[in-house]
Amino acid sequence: MLPTVAELYSRFRRFNHCFWDGRLPMVRIEYSNRMLAAGSYSPSERLIRIGRKYHEIFPEDVDDTLKHEMIHIFNPTHNADFKRELKRVGSTLRAKCHPSLRRPPRYLYECPGCRQEYPRQRRFRMASCGTCSANGRYDERFKLQLKQSRPPGYQ
Ligand SMILES: [Zn+2]
Ligand SMILES: [Zn+2]
Repeated sequence: MLPTVAELYSRFRRFNHCFWDGRLPMVRIEYSNRMLAAGSYSPSERLIRIGRKYHEIFPEDVDDTLKHEMIHIFNPTHNADFKRELKRVGSTLRAKCHPSLRRPPRYLYECPGCRQEYPRQRRFRMASCGTCSANGRYDERFKLQLKQSRPPGYQ
């Protein structure tokens, strides 16, 4: 059983009090049902997302994830300062891996020139083969062709 959103807010307040002297601004917290990552922080939305799928597999990691994302409120990167902060608040940097968190690509593209395949989660608009296009610039002749796609929601 994962903590409720109300419980996440109360942990946020507790960690903020314990580790930041209450200096962190309040942000929104929600579970993401779609995200496969442990968590994310969006500065523009001032929103911490906690990945539901990840924590259904690793429920013991919720506090670590919450602390990790809380550090991102002041520091968007994973630089040396960030790592010091992680240590200070007793969190770990590395998210764990699990086969069910790896999702098969929804789209498979192919270069008409060299036939290299490009599996992707998202649709390409204008993309050409990185190997065939000179200087990595878009080249109509090597525009990636959609070969295969899966229905949305496929896992
Ligand atoms: Zn991070
Ligand atoms: Zn190519």
